[in-house]
Amino acid sequence: MSTVDEPEPNLYERLGIRPTATADEVTAAYRRRARSLHPDSAPGTPNPRALQEVIAAYRVLSDPPLRRDYDRRIGATPLGRAGFSHPRACLVCAGAGQLQTPCRRCAGAGALLTDSPWLQAPRPCPGCAGRGYQDTGCGACAATGRR
Ligand SMILES: [Zn+2]
Ligand SMILES: [Zn+2]
Repeated sequence: MSTVDEPEPNLYERLGIRPTATADEVTAAYRRRARSLHPDSAPGTPNPRALQEVIAAYRVLSDPPLRRDYDRRIGATPLGRAGFSHPRACLVCAGAGQLQTPCRRCAGAGALLTDSPWLQAPRPCPGCAGRGYQDTGCGACAATGRR
């Protein structure tokens, strides 16, 4: 059991692509990674955890609404930041009133990792309803979004 708060995993790095990658590039990168990690391709060195992480990353990045949510969380979309330009907005939560913390159960992937990833598709994480994060009220502004 880890006692250290791990940073949110970068799903783009897991697939080896940039945040600007198109949907086709996401799929191509996923297939390449999944193939290289599959036990049939790498006999003797099974790494189910790595394959699970690639599958979980693809699950988010291949779903436009999930990817948009994820981009907003990591600040990859310039538009997502420009949207909060109110001068009196709370700086801690960017005016949202809520803080999104990565789900501890699925490490922000939104999918529950299984022991046999090549036998079954990962299912949405029940801890966060597949969103990968949980909302908590911002303490700095009492969840009002204003200073
Ligand atoms: Zn706040
Ligand atoms: Zn979760």
